[in-house]
Amino acid sequence: MSTSKVCFRNLLLQDTVARQLSYSFSSGRIAQTYLFAGSESTGRLPAARSFAALLQCEKPVTLDGLAADACGVCESCRRIAGDSHPDVTVIRPDGTEIRIDQVRALQETAALKPGTGRWLIFILDPADRLNQSSANSLLKILEEAPSHVVFILIARETGAILPTVLSRSEIVRFASPSPSEIRAVLAEKHALSAEAAAICCSLSEGRLGQSLLLAEFSLAETVSPGLKYSHANFLNAIEATSRYWQDIFAGATSLEDALRLAARPCHEFYPPLLANRKEFCRSLIMAVALPASFPILFADMLTGRLDSAVRAMQKSFEPLLAEAKKAYPAAVLKDVEGAIDSLLHGWSGQQLEELLLCLLNWHSDALKVACGADESLLLNLDRKEDIITLAAVDDVALLRAQIELVGKSVGLLRRHVQPALVIENLITQIGGLEP
Ligand SMILES: [Zn+2]
Repeated sequence: MSTSKVCFRNLLLQDTVARQLSYSFSSGRIAQTYLFAGSESTGRLPAARSFAALLQCEKPVTLDGLAADACGVCESCRRIAGDSHPDVTVIRPDGTEIRIDQVRALQETAALKPGTGRWLIFILDPADRLNQSSANSLLKILEEAPSHVVFILIARETGAILPTVLSRSEIVRFASPSPSEIRAVLAEKHALSAEAAAICCSLSEGRLGQSLLLAEFSLAETVSPGLKYSHANFLNAIEATSRYWQDIFAGATSLEDALRLAARPCHEFYPPLLANRKEFCRSLIMAVALPASFPILFADMLTGRLDSAVRAMQKSFEPLLAEAKKAYPAAVLKDVEGAIDSLLHGWSGQQLEELLLCLLNWHSDALKVACGADESLLLNLDRKEDIITLAAVDDVALLRAQIELVGKSVGLLRRHVQPALVIENLITQIGGLEP
Protein backbone atom coordinates (compact mmCIF):
# COMPACT_ATOMS: atom_id res chain seq x y z
CA MET A 1 0.00 0.00 0.00
CA SER A 2 1.36 3.38 -0.93
CA THR A 3 0.76 6.02 1.73
CA SER A 4 1.16 8.80 -0.82
CA LYS A 5 -2.19 7.95 -2.41
CA VAL A 6 -4.88 10.31 -1.25
CA CYS A 7 -7.87 8.04 -0.59
CA PHE A 8 -10.09 6.80 2.23
CA ARG A 9 -8.18 3.50 2.42
CA ASN A 10 -5.20 5.46 3.73
CA LEU A 11 -7.22 7.43 6.25
CA LEU A 12 -6.34 6.31 9.77
CA LEU A 13 -8.87 5.58 12.52
CA GLN A 14 -11.74 7.38 10.78
CA ASP A 15 -13.73 4.45 9.34
CA THR A 16 -17.10 6.01 10.13
CA VAL A 17 -16.15 9.21 8.32
CA ALA A 18 -14.85 7.26 5.31
CA ARG A 19 -18.09 5.26 5.12
CA GLN A 20 -20.29 8.34 5.44
CA LEU A 21 -18.50 10.21 2.64
CA SER A 22 -18.14 7.16 0.45
CA TYR A 23 -21.88 6.59 0.76
CA SER A 24 -22.60 10.26 0.02
CA PHE A 25 -20.73 9.77 -3.28
CA SER A 26 -22.10 6.36 -4.29
CA SER A 27 -25.69 7.35 -3.59
CA GLY A 28 -25.24 10.45 -5.72
CA ARG A 29 -26.20 12.71 -2.82
CA ILE A 30 -23.37 15.19 -2.83
CA ALA A 31 -24.06 18.08 -0.47
CA GLN A 32 -22.93 21.51 -1.49
CA THR A 33 -21.32 22.21 1.86
CA TYR A 34 -19.67 19.76 4.23
CA LEU A 35 -18.55 20.67 7.69
CA PHE A 36 -15.72 18.47 8.95
CA ALA A 37 -15.83 18.92 12.72
CA GLY A 38 -13.28 17.50 15.12
CA SER A 39 -10.09 18.16 17.04
CA GLU A 40 -6.85 19.05 15.32
CA SER A 41 -4.73 16.15 14.20
CA THR A 42 -7.68 13.77 13.71
CA GLY A 43 -7.30 13.61 9.92
CA ARG A 44 -9.78 16.27 8.81
CA LEU A 45 -7.60 17.64 5.99
CA PRO A 46 -6.53 14.18 4.70
CA ALA A 47 -10.21 13.21 4.70
CA ALA A 48 -11.14 16.40 2.82
CA ARG A 49 -8.46 15.72 0.21
CA SER A 50 -9.55 12.07 -0.07
CA PHE A 51 -13.15 13.12 -0.64
CA ALA A 52 -12.03 15.67 -3.25
CA ALA A 53 -10.01 12.89 -4.91
CA LEU A 54 -13.04 10.62 -4.98
CA LEU A 55 -15.25 13.32 -6.49
CA GLN A 56 -12.72 14.03 -9.23
CA CYS A 57 -11.45 10.47 -9.77
CA GLU A 58 -11.62 9.07 -13.30
CA LYS A 59 -12.15 5.48 -12.12
CA PRO A 60 -13.41 5.18 -8.54
CA VAL A 61 -12.92 1.77 -6.97
CA THR A 62 -14.85 -0.37 -4.47
CA LEU A 63 -12.37 -1.61 -1.88
CA ASP A 64 -11.98 -2.44 1.80
CA GLY A 65 -15.72 -2.46 2.40
CA LEU A 66 -16.15 1.07 1.08
CA ALA A 67 -18.90 1.75 -1.47
CA ALA A 68 -16.50 3.99 -3.40
CA ASP A 69 -12.96 5.30 -3.07
CA ALA A 70 -10.53 7.25 -5.25
CA CYS A 71 -8.36 4.96 -7.38
CA GLY A 72 -5.17 6.79 -6.41
CA VAL A 73 -3.50 6.23 -9.79
CA CYS A 74 -5.40 8.24 -12.42
CA GLU A 75 -4.17 11.64 -13.59
CA SER A 76 -6.68 13.45 -11.37
CA CYS A 77 -5.79 11.42 -8.25
CA ARG A 78 -2.08 12.02 -8.82
CA ARG A 79 -2.63 15.74 -9.20
CA ILE A 80 -4.55 15.90 -5.95
CA ALA A 81 -1.77 13.96 -4.21
CA GLY A 82 0.69 16.55 -5.58
CA ASP A 83 -1.53 19.49 -4.54
CA SER A 84 -1.71 20.62 -8.15
CA HIS A 85 -5.29 19.87 -9.19
CA PRO A 86 -6.67 23.03 -10.82
CA ASP A 87 -10.21 22.38 -9.53
CA VAL A 88 -9.33 21.68 -5.91
CA THR A 89 -8.31 24.70 -3.83
CA VAL A 90 -7.26 24.70 -0.19
CA ILE A 91 -7.74 28.09 1.47
CA ARG A 92 -5.64 28.69 4.57
CA PRO A 93 -5.46 31.73 6.86
CA ASP A 94 -3.40 34.65 5.61
CA GLY A 95 -1.76 35.44 8.95
CA THR A 96 -4.18 34.54 11.72
CA GLU A 97 -7.40 34.88 9.72
CA ILE A 98 -9.02 33.95 6.44
CA ARG A 99 -9.54 37.45 5.10
CA ILE A 100 -12.30 38.90 3.01
CA ASP A 101 -10.07 39.34 -0.07
CA GLN A 102 -9.33 35.59 0.03
CA VAL A 103 -13.07 34.87 0.10
CA ARG A 104 -13.62 37.34 -2.78
CA ALA A 105 -10.96 35.52 -4.82
CA LEU A 106 -12.77 32.28 -4.04
CA GLN A 107 -16.02 33.84 -5.26
CA GLU A 108 -14.48 34.70 -8.62
CA THR A 109 -13.13 31.16 -9.08
CA ALA A 110 -16.43 29.60 -7.97
CA ALA A 111 -18.25 31.39 -10.78
CA LEU A 112 -16.14 29.56 -13.39
CA LYS A 113 -16.75 26.12 -14.87
CA PRO A 114 -14.48 23.32 -13.61
CA GLY A 115 -11.38 23.02 -15.80
CA THR A 116 -10.58 19.34 -15.96
CA GLY A 117 -12.65 17.87 -13.15
CA ARG A 118 -16.40 17.60 -12.77
CA TRP A 119 -16.47 19.61 -9.58
CA LEU A 120 -14.96 22.77 -8.26
CA ILE A 121 -13.90 22.04 -4.71
CA PHE A 122 -12.89 24.52 -2.03
CA ILE A 123 -11.45 23.35 1.25
CA LEU A 124 -11.33 25.99 4.01
CA ASP A 125 -8.75 24.95 6.57
CA PRO A 126 -9.74 25.98 9.18
CA ALA A 127 -13.10 27.67 8.65
CA ASP A 128 -13.13 28.80 12.29
CA ARG A 129 -10.50 31.34 11.23
CA LEU A 130 -12.96 33.20 9.01
CA ASN A 131 -13.50 36.65 10.49
CA GLN A 132 -16.94 38.24 10.73
CA SER A 133 -16.87 39.89 7.32
CA SER A 134 -15.28 36.97 5.47
CA ALA A 135 -17.80 34.56 7.07
CA ASN A 136 -20.70 36.73 5.90
CA SER A 137 -19.22 37.00 2.47
CA LEU A 138 -18.80 33.20 2.33
CA LEU A 139 -22.45 32.76 3.29
CA LYS A 140 -23.53 34.79 0.25
CA ILE A 141 -21.33 32.61 -1.97
CA LEU A 142 -22.83 29.44 -0.51
CA GLU A 143 -26.30 30.77 -1.26
CA GLU A 144 -25.48 31.58 -4.87
CA ALA A 145 -22.93 28.95 -5.88
CA PRO A 146 -23.69 26.76 -8.91
CA SER A 147 -24.37 23.05 -8.26
CA HIS A 148 -20.92 21.89 -9.41
CA VAL A 149 -19.25 23.70 -6.50
CA VAL A 150 -18.51 21.78 -3.29
CA PHE A 151 -17.28 23.45 -0.11
CA ILE A 152 -15.54 21.55 2.66
CA LEU A 153 -15.25 23.57 5.85
CA ILE A 154 -12.85 22.26 8.46
CA ALA A 155 -13.52 23.34 12.05
CA ARG A 156 -12.86 22.31 15.62
CA GLU A 157 -16.47 22.53 16.69
CA THR A 158 -19.71 23.32 14.99
CA GLY A 159 -20.19 26.19 17.48
CA ALA A 160 -17.46 28.20 15.73
CA ILE A 161 -19.46 28.36 12.49
CA LEU A 162 -22.25 30.84 11.65
CA PRO A 163 -25.62 29.12 12.32
CA THR A 164 -26.79 30.09 8.82
CA VAL A 165 -23.78 28.29 7.33
CA LEU A 166 -24.22 25.37 9.70
CA SER A 167 -27.83 24.82 8.69
CA ARG A 168 -26.76 24.46 5.04
CA SER A 169 -24.01 21.95 5.78
CA GLU A 170 -23.79 18.19 6.01
CA ILE A 171 -21.87 17.61 9.23
CA VAL A 172 -19.11 15.01 9.29
CA ARG A 173 -17.84 14.36 12.81
CA PHE A 174 -14.27 13.28 13.51
CA ALA A 175 -13.87 11.33 16.74
CA SER A 176 -10.58 11.69 18.61
CA PRO A 177 -8.87 8.29 18.63
CA SER A 178 -8.04 6.69 21.98
CA PRO A 179 -4.40 6.36 23.13
CA SER A 180 -4.48 2.59 22.59
CA GLU A 181 -5.76 3.04 19.01
CA ILE A 182 -2.94 5.51 18.34
CA ARG A 183 -0.31 3.17 19.80
CA ALA A 184 -1.66 0.31 17.67
CA VAL A 185 -1.39 2.42 14.49
CA LEU A 186 2.15 3.48 15.38
CA ALA A 187 3.18 -0.11 16.01
CA GLU A 188 1.55 -1.34 12.81
CA LYS A 189 2.38 1.41 10.31
CA HIS A 190 5.79 2.37 11.61
CA ALA A 191 6.82 -0.95 13.07
CA LEU A 192 7.57 0.81 16.38
CA SER A 193 8.16 -1.22 19.50
CA ALA A 194 5.46 -0.98 22.18
CA GLU A 195 7.76 1.32 24.22
CA ALA A 196 8.53 3.65 21.30
CA ALA A 197 4.84 3.81 20.32
CA ALA A 198 3.95 4.70 23.92
CA ILE A 199 6.54 7.52 23.95
CA CYS A 200 5.28 9.00 20.65
CA CYS A 201 1.67 8.83 21.79
CA SER A 202 2.50 10.42 25.12
CA LEU A 203 4.66 13.25 23.69
CA SER A 204 1.93 14.15 21.21
CA GLU A 205 -0.59 14.40 24.10
CA GLY A 206 -2.68 11.87 22.25
CA ARG A 207 -2.81 13.55 18.81
CA LEU A 208 -2.67 11.04 15.99
CA GLY A 209 -1.18 13.27 13.29
CA GLN A 210 1.54 14.59 15.56
CA SER A 211 2.41 11.14 16.91
CA LEU A 212 2.80 9.83 13.35
CA LEU A 213 5.26 12.63 12.61
CA LEU A 214 7.10 11.94 15.86
CA ALA A 215 7.48 8.33 14.78
CA GLU A 216 9.86 9.60 12.07
CA PHE A 217 12.23 11.00 14.67
CA SER A 218 14.44 8.81 16.77
CA LEU A 219 13.30 9.63 20.27
CA ALA A 220 15.59 8.38 22.96
CA GLU A 221 14.02 7.30 26.22
CA THR A 222 14.17 10.42 28.36
CA VAL A 223 16.12 10.34 31.56
CA SER A 224 14.60 11.67 34.76
CA PRO A 225 16.73 14.62 35.83
CA GLY A 226 14.51 15.76 38.70
CA LEU A 227 12.72 19.10 39.01
CA LYS A 228 15.86 21.21 39.37
CA TYR A 229 17.28 20.20 36.00
CA SER A 230 14.06 19.44 34.17
CA HIS A 231 12.76 22.99 34.61
CA ALA A 232 16.02 24.40 33.25
CA ASN A 233 15.95 21.92 30.36
CA PHE A 234 12.37 22.91 29.54
CA LEU A 235 13.22 26.63 29.49
CA ASN A 236 16.30 25.95 27.37
CA ALA A 237 14.18 23.93 24.96
CA ILE A 238 11.91 26.97 24.47
CA GLU A 239 14.95 28.99 23.51
CA ALA A 240 16.19 26.23 21.19
CA THR A 241 12.76 26.11 19.52
CA SER A 242 12.92 29.84 18.94
CA ARG A 243 16.40 29.51 17.39
CA TYR A 244 15.14 26.68 15.19
CA TRP A 245 12.37 28.91 13.80
CA GLN A 246 14.64 31.95 13.51
CA ASP A 247 16.85 29.96 11.15
CA ILE A 248 13.83 29.06 9.05
CA PHE A 249 12.44 32.64 9.03
CA ALA A 250 15.81 33.98 7.95
CA GLY A 251 15.27 32.07 4.71
CA ALA A 252 12.02 33.89 3.86
CA THR A 253 12.16 35.15 0.29
CA SER A 254 9.23 37.58 0.28
CA LEU A 255 6.60 39.06 2.56
CA GLU A 256 4.10 36.38 1.54
CA ASP A 257 6.68 33.72 2.25
CA ALA A 258 7.43 35.33 5.63
CA LEU A 259 3.77 35.18 6.60
CA ARG A 260 3.44 31.59 5.49
CA LEU A 261 6.53 30.67 7.51
CA ALA A 262 5.33 32.56 10.59
CA ALA A 263 2.11 30.53 10.54
CA ARG A 264 4.02 27.27 10.78
CA PRO A 265 5.15 27.32 14.43
CA CYS A 266 1.51 27.31 15.51
CA HIS A 267 0.90 24.10 13.61
CA GLU A 268 4.20 22.34 13.85
CA PHE A 269 6.28 21.17 16.72
CA TYR A 270 9.84 20.66 17.74
CA PRO A 271 10.42 17.23 19.32
CA PRO A 272 13.03 18.29 21.92
CA LEU A 273 10.54 20.81 23.30
CA LEU A 274 7.83 18.15 23.64
CA ALA A 275 10.21 15.76 25.40
CA ASN A 276 11.48 18.41 27.83
CA ARG A 277 8.00 19.74 28.56
CA LYS A 278 6.75 16.24 29.29
CA GLU A 279 9.67 15.59 31.61
CA PHE A 280 9.21 18.90 33.43
CA CYS A 281 5.52 18.15 34.03
CA ARG A 282 6.40 14.68 35.23
CA SER A 283 8.92 15.92 37.76
CA LEU A 284 6.61 18.73 38.86
CA ILE A 285 3.79 16.32 39.56
CA MET A 286 6.02 13.74 41.18
CA ALA A 287 7.78 16.28 43.43
CA VAL A 288 6.89 15.51 47.04
CA ALA A 289 7.01 19.17 48.06
CA LEU A 290 7.97 22.20 46.01
CA PRO A 291 10.40 24.80 47.35
CA ALA A 292 8.21 27.71 48.49
CA SER A 293 9.77 30.18 46.04
CA PHE A 294 9.58 27.87 43.04
CA PRO A 295 6.12 28.77 41.63
CA ILE A 296 6.76 32.51 41.39
CA LEU A 297 10.32 32.12 40.13
CA PHE A 298 9.36 29.56 37.54
CA ALA A 299 6.32 31.52 36.32
CA ASP A 300 8.52 34.59 35.84
CA MET A 301 11.27 32.65 34.10
CA LEU A 302 8.80 30.88 31.81
CA THR A 303 6.96 33.99 30.68
CA GLY A 304 10.25 35.89 30.37
CA ARG A 305 11.74 33.13 28.26
CA LEU A 306 8.67 33.02 26.01
CA ASP A 307 8.74 36.81 25.55
CA SER A 308 12.39 36.82 24.57
CA ALA A 309 11.80 33.85 22.25
CA VAL A 310 9.06 35.82 20.47
CA ARG A 311 11.19 38.98 20.27
CA ALA A 312 14.08 37.03 18.78
CA MET A 313 11.78 35.46 16.20
CA GLN A 314 10.33 38.87 15.29
CA LYS A 315 13.85 40.20 14.85
CA SER A 316 14.61 37.58 12.24
CA PHE A 317 11.99 39.18 9.98
CA GLU A 318 13.57 42.63 10.18
CA PRO A 319 15.94 42.43 7.19
CA LEU A 320 13.07 41.34 4.96
CA LEU A 321 10.75 44.08 6.24
CA ALA A 322 13.51 46.70 5.77
CA GLU A 323 13.95 45.50 2.19
CA ALA A 324 10.18 45.54 1.60
CA LYS A 325 9.94 49.16 2.81
CA LYS A 326 11.32 50.22 -0.56
CA ALA A 327 8.70 48.37 -2.54
CA TYR A 328 5.48 48.27 -0.51
CA PRO A 329 3.17 51.02 0.78
CA ALA A 330 3.37 51.60 4.55
CA ALA A 331 -0.17 50.28 5.11
CA VAL A 332 0.67 46.91 3.54
CA LEU A 333 3.83 46.64 5.62
CA LYS A 334 1.91 47.46 8.79
CA ASP A 335 -0.63 44.74 8.00
CA VAL A 336 2.07 42.15 7.45
CA GLU A 337 3.96 43.18 10.57
CA GLY A 338 0.73 42.94 12.57
CA ALA A 339 -0.01 39.49 11.17
CA ILE A 340 3.49 38.23 11.99
CA ASP A 341 3.24 39.66 15.52
CA SER A 342 -0.06 38.03 16.20
CA LEU A 343 1.13 34.68 14.82
CA LEU A 344 4.23 34.71 17.00
CA HIS A 345 2.33 35.78 20.11
CA GLY A 346 -0.12 33.02 19.25
CA TRP A 347 2.81 30.62 19.38
CA SER A 348 3.74 31.88 22.84
CA GLY A 349 0.16 31.47 24.10
CA GLN A 350 0.06 28.01 22.60
CA GLN A 351 3.16 27.00 24.60
CA LEU A 352 1.37 27.87 27.85
CA GLU A 353 -1.74 25.95 26.83
CA GLU A 354 0.34 22.93 25.83
CA LEU A 355 2.02 22.98 29.24
CA LEU A 356 -1.39 22.99 30.91
CA LEU A 357 -2.67 20.26 28.62
CA CYS A 358 0.33 18.13 29.53
CA LEU A 359 -0.36 18.62 33.27
CA LEU A 360 -4.02 17.84 32.66
CA ASN A 361 -3.18 14.58 30.91
CA TRP A 362 -0.94 13.41 33.77
CA HIS A 363 -3.74 14.00 36.25
CA SER A 364 -6.36 12.44 33.98
CA ASP A 365 -4.21 9.32 33.69
CA ALA A 366 -3.85 9.13 37.48
CA LEU A 367 -7.61 9.53 37.83
CA LYS A 368 -8.16 6.66 35.40
CA VAL A 369 -5.89 4.44 37.49
CA ALA A 370 -7.52 5.58 40.76
CA CYS A 371 -10.91 4.65 39.28
CA GLY A 372 -9.65 1.21 38.28
CA ALA A 373 -9.63 1.78 34.50
CA ASP A 374 -7.71 -0.54 32.21
CA GLU A 375 -4.12 0.57 31.64
CA SER A 376 -4.58 0.54 27.86
CA LEU A 377 -6.61 3.75 28.33
CA LEU A 378 -3.59 5.63 29.71
CA LEU A 379 -2.09 8.33 27.53
CA ASN A 380 1.29 8.30 29.29
CA LEU A 381 1.60 4.54 29.23
CA ASP A 382 5.39 4.89 28.97
CA ARG A 383 5.27 6.30 32.54
CA LYS A 384 2.86 3.80 33.99
CA GLU A 385 4.80 3.40 37.25
CA ASP A 386 4.71 7.15 37.93
CA ILE A 387 0.99 7.29 37.25
CA ILE A 388 0.33 4.39 39.61
CA THR A 389 2.40 6.15 42.29
CA LEU A 390 0.52 9.40 41.76
CA ALA A 391 -2.84 7.63 41.92
CA ALA A 392 -1.81 5.95 45.17
CA VAL A 393 -0.79 9.25 46.79
CA ASP A 394 -3.61 11.53 45.54
CA ASP A 395 -7.16 10.30 46.02
CA VAL A 396 -9.95 10.58 43.46
CA ALA A 397 -11.38 13.80 44.93
CA LEU A 398 -7.98 15.50 44.92
CA LEU A 399 -7.24 14.42 41.35
CA ARG A 400 -10.63 15.74 40.23
CA ALA A 401 -9.91 19.05 41.99
CA GLN A 402 -6.54 19.30 40.23
CA ILE A 403 -8.09 18.57 36.84
CA GLU A 404 -10.69 21.25 37.46
CA LEU A 405 -7.98 23.68 38.51
CA VAL A 406 -6.01 23.13 35.30
CA GLY A 407 -9.19 23.53 33.24
CA LYS A 408 -9.95 26.84 35.00
CA SER A 409 -6.40 28.03 34.37
CA VAL A 410 -6.79 27.39 30.63
CA GLY A 411 -9.94 29.54 30.77
CA LEU A 412 -8.05 32.35 32.55
CA LEU A 413 -5.26 32.30 29.94
CA ARG A 414 -7.80 32.52 27.14
CA ARG A 415 -9.38 35.50 28.86
CA HIS A 416 -5.93 37.13 28.84
CA VAL A 417 -5.37 37.10 32.59
CA GLN A 418 -1.65 37.73 33.16
CA PRO A 419 0.04 34.42 32.24
CA ALA A 420 2.68 34.64 34.99
CA LEU A 421 -0.07 34.89 37.63
CA VAL A 422 -2.03 31.99 36.19
CA ILE A 423 1.02 29.72 36.05
CA GLU A 424 2.24 30.74 39.51
CA ASN A 425 -1.16 30.06 41.04
CA LEU A 426 -1.53 26.73 39.28
CA ILE A 427 1.91 25.46 40.31
CA THR A 428 1.46 26.67 43.89
CA GLN A 429 -1.79 24.74 44.15
CA ILE A 430 -0.59 21.60 42.43
CA GLY A 431 2.58 21.61 44.52
CA GLY A 432 0.68 22.66 47.62
CA LEU A 433 -2.06 20.10 47.36
CA GLU A 434 -0.28 17.55 49.46
CA PRO A 435 -1.89 14.34 50.67
ZN1 LIG B 1 -8.45 8.20 -9.57
